[in-house]
Amino acid sequence: MKRLLLLVLSALLLSACNQECPQGPADAAARAPAKTETIKWKLVTSWPKNFPGLGTAPEKFADLVKEMSAGRLQIKVYGAGELVPALQVFDAVSQGTAEMGHSGAYYWKGKTPAAQFFTSVPFGLTAQEMNGWIQYGGGQQLWDEVYAPFNLMPLPGGNTGVQMGGWFNKEVNSVDDLKGLKMRIPGLGGEVLQRAGGTPVTLPGGEIFTSLQTGTIDATEWVGPYNDLAFGLFKVAKYYYYPGWHEPGSMMEFTINKDAFAALPADLQAIVKVAARAVNDDMLAEFTTRNQNALVELKTRHHVDVRPFPDDVLVKMKTLSEQVLEEVAAADDMSAKVYASFKDYRDKVAAYHKVSEQAYINARD
Ligand code: CA
Repeated sequence: MKRLLLLVLSALLLSACNQECPQGPADAAARAPAKTETIKWKLVTSWPKNFPGLGTAPEKFADLVKEMSAGRLQIKVYGAGELVPALQVFDAVSQGTAEMGHSGAYYWKGKTPAAQFFTSVPFGLTAQEMNGWIQYGGGQQLWDEVYAPFNLMPLPGGNTGVQMGGWFNKEVNSVDDLKGLKMRIPGLGGEVLQRAGGTPVTLPGGEIFTSLQTGTIDATEWVGPYNDLAFGLFKVAKYYYYPGWHEPGSMMEFTINKDAFAALPADLQAIVKVAARAVNDDMLAEFTTRNQNALVELKTRHHVDVRPFPDDVLVKMKTLSEQVLEEVAAADDMSAKVYASFKDYRDKVAAYHKVSEQAYINARD
């Protein structure tokens, strides 16, 4: 039957082509499917392989790109330390060791201080506001400018929402309790803690548990209930404080080597951008849902002592944060330019959200 069908089809095609179809080898080449080149990229991350939320986001990104490009662009994701250490993602992508990275911009303050404004800033923007600033408030253009000297193109790569204040083995009842506190807290939050008398430490996620367990650090922030539960931090700390004043809406980043991106055909470039946007949206939705469930589990199953920071501690941290931001801004021209845009956006959106998001959430409570 099959053979007969093929014969009939061939005959029909031949007769159809007798009059209308041009002949010759040139035509055959034109009708042949375009030669599909498979491009293979490496994507390095600052997270343990497949770590919930942060590590699964770049995996989702790679899957989306593969599917949308019908396999023409295949991206292999590497966990922290598999190809390069967690905190060498920026360099690896800048130098082309990997074509892409997934990390947090605030890890790169030693490379370019202005990068610190593109993850989360103490008492800064929420996730919703951060997306607004980046996508419609001029943030993306500034971020492009900050990363251009490093041959990098940045894109938002997910947002955790408001983080938790962190895990402490000492009670925080007043500002004085922060004096001498050795805490894993990266970026600007760390600077603020230092001004409050503490000692900030930057450690990749994978080293937090042991450092807290052995007493190398007294406290740590990580992300929120979902990720903190996955790391088992409740086993090595007594108190879980909120809110994460230091990271009110931490945006992850995709970095792309500019040469690698420029070498892609236009449709694959668009696919990379759209997949990144999808993952940026997806992560916040995932964290919003999983954090609430994880918080219930931490409280009911593991009996975690969840506490608010005292008001006077938050007031003090806010004052110190303003000082830190002003100083970071004053240190170099690029930081000043980014901070001016950021501050303007924050002041306006804060005024707007007082009568919208904030007013509504207060009313609902
Ligand atoms: Ca954090």
